[in-house]
Amino acid sequence: MSSVSKAPSVLVVEDEKEIVTLLRYNLEKEGYEVTEANDGEEAMMLASEKQPDLVLLDWMLPQISGIEVCRQLRSLPETRNVPIIMLTARGEEADRIRGLDTGADDYVSKPFSVNELLARVRAVMRRIRPALVEDLVTFGDIAVDRTAHRVRRAGRDIHLGPTEYRLLDHLMQFPGRVYSREQLLDAVWGSDVYVEARTVDVHIGRLRKALNVTGQGDPIRTVRSAGYALNDSLG
Ligand code: CA
Repeated sequence: MSSVSKAPSVLVVEDEKEIVTLLRYNLEKEGYEVTEANDGEEAMMLASEKQPDLVLLDWMLPQISGIEVCRQLRSLPETRNVPIIMLTARGEEADRIRGLDTGADDYVSKPFSVNELLARVRAVMRRIRPALVEDLVTFGDIAVDRTAHRVRRAGRDIHLGPTEYRLLDHLMQFPGRVYSREQLLDAVWGSDVYVEARTVDVHIGRLRKALNVTGQGDPIRTVRSAGYALNDSLG
């Protein structure tokens, strides 16, 4: 059984090993899943391969600069909306504005205090991806209490198996977004296990049935040959 993680993921892009170690240690302690890239090229490769929930991006990188990486991340459809916090030794106002203009969501000057940086990470996550950091997530008449692992619909308790729970939790992160079977497999089962895509259909079917028990209608939309999404109209 693979360990299935719904921890928000952070891609750290920095060439200075000590800073990477410091960031990794503290982010993991806060419950984030950390991936690291030591230059811009690696960052682009990792980010387009598996979209992180947030990118911590150093300005000063070998070859491609952080600002260029930021621009490239913003230009690709799969990474366009990923929040980016830039790290930099440059404190000048002009650079700060340039960074934000290029599409960074926030900006932290080096040397930084770890606590301040973590607070910024939390703030950006909360603003941009509230569903990743909140304990209680709601969409329409569906509520997921992540602390109690409890799901309610229209005020009534819904009993879900662990896989259906994780599926719902994942779909609720971006209501309306269409997830392919492969994306759901990766997110819910983990990329290191072999599960047939058809398995996703089976569990979506169970989830639908469980959520429909109150007669409120089917909140899951099947998108032919694309995948599944939580129904927009519900929100
Ligand atoms: Ca650097």
